[in-house]
Amino acid sequence: MNGHFSAVGDQPANGNYEHGCQVIDEEKEFNPNLNDYLQTTRVAEAGFNYHLISVFGSQSTGKSTLLNHLFGTTFSVMSETERRQTTKGIWLSKNKRETSSGTKMADNILVMDVEGTDGRERGEDQDFERKSALFALATSEVLLVNIWEHQVGLYQGANMGLLKTVFEVNMQLFLKDKNSAPRSLLFFVIRDHLGVTPLSALQNTLIQDLTKIWSSISKPQGLEQSRIEDYFDFGFAALPHKILQGEKFESEVANLGARFSTGHRNGNAELEGGILLPEYHRRIPADGLSVYAEGIWDQIVNNKDLDLPTQQELLAQFRCDEISREVLLAFDTVLTPLEEKQAEASKLGKPIVLPDLGAAASEAREKCFKAFEVQASRYHKGVYSRKKQELESKVDGRLKTLYQGQIAAAHKAGVAAFSEAVSNKVKAGQKAGGGYEFAEIVSNEKKKTTEIFKAEVDGLAIEGVEWTNFVSQSQLFEAELDEVSGKLRKDEIRRLATRVERWVKSRLGDAVGLEFNKLGSGRGGSGAPEEGQKPATEKDLWDRIWHVFTDVVREAEGRFADRAKSFDASDAEVEVGLWRLRRKSWTALREKIEEEVMEGNILLKLRENFEDKFRYDEAGVPRIWRPTDDIEGIYTKARESTLTLIPLLSKFKLLSSQKAPELVEFIGAQPSGVEAGDEEDLTPIGGVDEEDGKSLEEEMTVLSENKRQDLVVRFKKTADGVYVEAKRSAIGGMTQ
Ligand code: GDP
Ligand code: MG
Repeated sequence: MNGHFSAVGDQPANGNYEHGCQVIDEEKEFNPNLNDYLQTTRVAEAGFNYHLISVFGSQSTGKSTLLNHLFGTTFSVMSETERRQTTKGIWLSKNKRETSSGTKMADNILVMDVEGTDGRERGEDQDFERKSALFALATSEVLLVNIWEHQVGLYQGANMGLLKTVFEVNMQLFLKDKNSAPRSLLFFVIRDHLGVTPLSALQNTLIQDLTKIWSSISKPQGLEQSRIEDYFDFGFAALPHKILQGEKFESEVANLGARFSTGHRNGNAELEGGILLPEYHRRIPADGLSVYAEGIWDQIVNNKDLDLPTQQELLAQFRCDEISREVLLAFDTVLTPLEEKQAEASKLGKPIVLPDLGAAASEAREKCFKAFEVQASRYHKGVYSRKKQELESKVDGRLKTLYQGQIAAAHKAGVAAFSEAVSNKVKAGQKAGGGYEFAEIVSNEKKKTTEIFKAEVDGLAIEGVEWTNFVSQSQLFEAELDEVSGKLRKDEIRRLATRVERWVKSRLGDAVGLEFNKLGSGRGGSGAPEEGQKPATEKDLWDRIWHVFTDVVREAEGRFADRAKSFDASDAEVEVGLWRLRRKSWTALREKIEEEVMEGNILLKLRENFEDKFRYDEAGVPRIWRPTDDIEGIYTKARESTLTLIPLLSKFKLLSSQKAPELVEFIGAQPSGVEAGDEEDLTPIGGVDEEDGKSLEEEMTVLSENKRQDLVVRFKKTADGVYVEAKRSAIGGMTQ
């Protein structure tokens, strides 16, 4: 404690707060280092567990001396010899004592030493007096009023002027918000108490004076009837002369210090414990005290109406924003790398499923909210809950984006894995000889994939958070799996159809070829008919072909339907498949017939047919031509007989009905389930596909008129050749 602390306003900002921290300097400037001081002394982290006490009183009444003794502070005091004002502006220091006279003092007591106010050095600066009073009242729980014993009862004394100011200022504060303004404790410390007049008598005198002052101040409307006790509690202590009774002074100060502990009112409203009651607390969280004090001072200095509730709201906004930024920083360290990884992957078109995303993100979220709650909930409730919502929507907005990306990635990966797994299993099954059950493969893979997806979705779920419930996404995923299965099944149906069609083609090739081969035998069949069967005739060629055709197709349909149903093909799909099969089979038949009636082929058959009739007798014995034979007659008969085949062959017409087969009925109407791709590879069929412009008549035409005539001419030539040869051999036989 050196005598003169000259460097007023020259504040250390480096944590060197030898005399505490100057909150307001003599130029009435607020010191921005206050927060640093609160951080340094670790009061800032105390939440509400701190106390703010201010001292008032005339200049040089030993206020700073008292505080230094009570709280171990080092506020500068006037030297015994110089007698000039020392404390300038308002200083703040933390209590350095833990106990006083064996009693534990309250935690984190902050003491404000306010410049003396008798105006000796500042002139009649009532303005600063009023401003500092307002500032102290707005922030402090306890106002220590330092007063000489001999001043007690001097109603006109300087102290009383100060108290009048305090009361008026207090009224001003209460005006704005009668509910939230807390009570304050006015604690009188009577100095240089001689002990002749007991404290109780001094106390009574003071209370009388205070009441008088109270009645003299002008009160705002509606508060005319208010009493001083409505706003203030009173406390009293007396101290002996410091210099004359040094030891007693020390011990009394220690006793007084013991009273600076927390207290409460019991059921009978009696005080228990120390003088620091919860109701005096301004409820400004310690980490916001500096900002709050600055805001208050700013209002005061600029002569604005001091509106504490508004100040508290502003403080809450400021601090909640600050806290929000802080907690978001920690949140960022977890979220940002994840967000970056996801963004990068999706930029490359390869969405990534981040491992353990749910656990990491929800933990970061929870920590962030908790940290915010712990610090910010101490501030104005309305502001806090608004800022909390803001923070939540910020955090959840980011989680939402991340989670949606994750779900989308899981969805994509799941669908791809499913499709690949099914295809691979089918391929493997085909390689192994086709012994696989498509439906089973699909249902197994679907189960597997759905479980993986569900695990991801469950991992993202946060209890009680509606938007983390991804039920609809799960449904979407399953729906897509079903869609993919549908496509895969369609492929499978196509593969099956191709197999069945190949089988039909091969069967038709054999059977139809056989029927045409029979033409080569002029007696309508090769060799004797088998037992029980009607001997085949040339005339019912088409009946037989139609019969064989429908038999083959019916069998193929049965095979197709059975197999398709085994892998859960729908009725519609089966119906379309069968319809396609019938059409393709017909087309295959048409192609086979086309092949059979190709020029060279059919001419050969006709020649064989003719030769059979011409060269063999009814019993099938080869004729040996003799000149006497009616070669010409036999020739003409055989030739005409074979020639009748040409019109027969030209048209697909049944002997039984004398009509074309009922192809339209056979193929049936196009099923409603036919889709765009189903028709692509189908050959139009006359009479069935009417819009194609080709009639059934044309469809059933095997040989065109031109071809037919051409065939007649060529056949005749061939037959003529045979005849000439026969004739020659007859003559030759005779000459030999
Ligand atoms: P402040 O201006 O109210 O802060 O007063 P100071 O603490 O600076 O003290 C002013 C003068 O009063 C100093 O010279 C102190 O030595 C003296 N002083 C301090 N305490 C007492 C006391 O209890 N009784 C008397 N008579 N003088 C005191
Ligand atoms: Mg002082």
